[in-house]
Amino acid sequence: MKKVLVIEDSKVLSNRLKRMIEHETGLTVDLVESYGATVEAIAIEDYFVAVTDLNLPDATKGATIDILTEKHIPTIAYTGDYSDELRDNMWKKRIVDYVLKKDPDSIKYISRLICQLHKNTNISVLVVDDSIVLRNSMKRLLETHLFDVDICGNANEALEKIETMQNLKLVISDYMMPDMDGFDFVRQVRRKFKKEELAFIGVSGSQSEQISAKFIKYGANDFMMKPFSHEQFYTRVTQNLQTLLMIQHIKDLSFKDYLTGLYNRRYFFEEMETIYKPDSDKTVAMLDIDFFKKVNDTYGHDGGDIVLKEISTMIKDYVGADGFVSRFGGEEFCLYLYSLKDKEYFEILRRKIEDLDIAFESEIIKVTSSFGVTSKAGISIDSMINLADSLLYTAKTSGRNTVCF
Ligand code: GH3
Ligand code: MG
Ligand code: MG
Repeated sequence: MKKVLVIEDSKVLSNRLKRMIEHETGLTVDLVESYGATVEAIAIEDYFVAVTDLNLPDATKGATIDILTEKHIPTIAYTGDYSDELRDNMWKKRIVDYVLKKDPDSIKYISRLICQLHKNTNISVLVVDDSIVLRNSMKRLLETHLFDVDICGNANEALEKIETMQNLKLVISDYMMPDMDGFDFVRQVRRKFKKEELAFIGVSGSQSEQISAKFIKYGANDFMMKPFSHEQFYTRVTQNLQTLLMIQHIKDLSFKDYLTGLYNRRYFFEEMETIYKPDSDKTVAMLDIDFFKKVNDTYGHDGGDIVLKEISTMIKDYVGADGFVSRFGGEEFCLYLYSLKDKEYFEILRRKIEDLDIAFESEIIKVTSSFGVTSKAGISIDSMINLADSLLYTAKTSGRNTVCF
């Protein structure tokens, strides 16, 4: 696990930083108090990020930044001083950010920033600009924030690249390009990716106010006028990505069942809209726990909840990558398998549930389950579910703890 280096001669501050960063990020923090100690530390350890005070007893102002950035360690300047000149100088040295000590939230801000940098290592960004100088400059800025960056000199090449990039979350594109303008480019990108899946920032040197409005109307999330400062650039990039992550988080919440962590019915049908093909091989099973009301009556609702959680985990682990599991209602689950499965596949799961000892307080709860399963081809997903449901009903009426296939 990579570490964080904090360079700060005030013990009070460095200990507060260490505590907060370790708490928020789970990363380990090393503390040093001088320039000399920094030189020694970075010679031994491969740091993921450094936070440095600018005024240290044994060096000129900001000297640590030079040795840190030389080693390509992303560096956050943490300072008590502020002047426009100092700030400009810091940004020229390719720091990640410049944080003022007097800001009451500065330590929290730094911790969150480190969290974000950690996440950035899994995010790809594509920069499209016909100017080599500009696209390389944006690439360098993004790499300082640890993004995985790709660059393109024209829109057609970018459209091809987009198809193959993994974890692409942001495209930054110029307006004037040789093969296609930024408006057409963003429209083409939007045919493949929604605004909440991929952020798009349009960039232009033109003073025309129409460009920013049009970029956004055609599907960009944001717009930046050239030239921009490093700080402006980072603020826009971070803001747009955070919005994307927030939407993703809310989506996850709306697609998952709170108690069991399984997908819910809404997710199931949304997923079916994209993957379901009547004639492909697949199997649909409805699973219902037997006499579950009795579990609640005997052990209380809390006991019932434990049973639901344990059974859910068991089903999910059993299905694994063969398909996915949704909780359709109370104690009823739908299993969607991406291939043809035989009856024995479900018999094994039925027996696993029957054999499971569920510990609750000082007791062991035992349950059984019934299955209705179909692999019938050529019908809609609704019909498959209805069929599986009526087979489940047959399983219930013929004594429960059985698989009706
Ligand atoms: P059968 O064998 O016919 O399926 O009988 P059953 O008792 O399992 O079925 P029934 O549908 O009559 O009862 C299901 C019960 O599940 C009723 C409901 O109170 C309970 N239930 C639904 N959701 C939850 C939940 O989230 N937690 C708990 N503890 N109980 C739940
Ligand atoms: Mg039941
Ligand atoms: Mg039921």
